[in-house]
Amino acid sequence: MRQEVVYLGLGANLGDKVDNCLRALKILSSSGQNQIQAVSSLYKTEPIGYREQDWFINCVAEMVTSLSPCSLLQLLQEIEKQMGRTKTFQWGPRVIDLDILFYGTEVIEEADLIIPHPHLHERGFVLIPLAELAPDLLHPVLKKSIKELLKGIEGEGGVELYTAPPDIEMFH
Ligand code: ADP
Ligand code: MG
Repeated sequence: MRQEVVYLGLGANLGDKVDNCLRALKILSSSGQNQIQAVSSLYKTEPIGYREQDWFINCVAEMVTSLSPCSLLQLLQEIEKQMGRTKTFQWGPRVIDLDILFYGTEVIEEADLIIPHPHLHERGFVLIPLAELAPDLLHPVLKKSIKELLKGIEGEGGVELYTAPPDIEMFH
């Protein structure tokens, strides 16, 4: 069976934000096709794009999956829906946002799925938690490590440590 290491970006700015992120990871790991291997610390993040909204909680998870990129995206969208995310607008408030950051070393450019995630290299709230888990991971398009990408956005701020990583046993 195919097994790939994927990195997921999680974000929430409505309701119990920390719990929303943990709940999404629990639902993912309960499907049997995914094993959560590591979760970063949780960060408190200022909204970007549309600024007139509450702050976000963001984290990154490392997961082994037997799902194809397309099936994984579908599952993430089902979980978003199940958790009560309604369509607002791009960068608007959300109960949970689940993004595929990396899928192994694959490069995918389809209408509804771009991997690596097209904004990951410019977002502190992705790069900072990702650097905790995989500082030397190489971006297959930009050919830079997460550590190097992080240097490129140094001093931007807006991302502050909120809580330590959750106990990984929670997802087993
Ligand atoms: P954003 O995450 O940019 O705030 P949304 O979560 O509303 O916006 O996502 C909008 C669309 O992004 C989804 O319909 C999905 O098809 C597309 N998309 C493209 N690449 C990815 C990816 N790597 N992970 C998640 N969604 C993606
Ligand atoms: Mg998204």
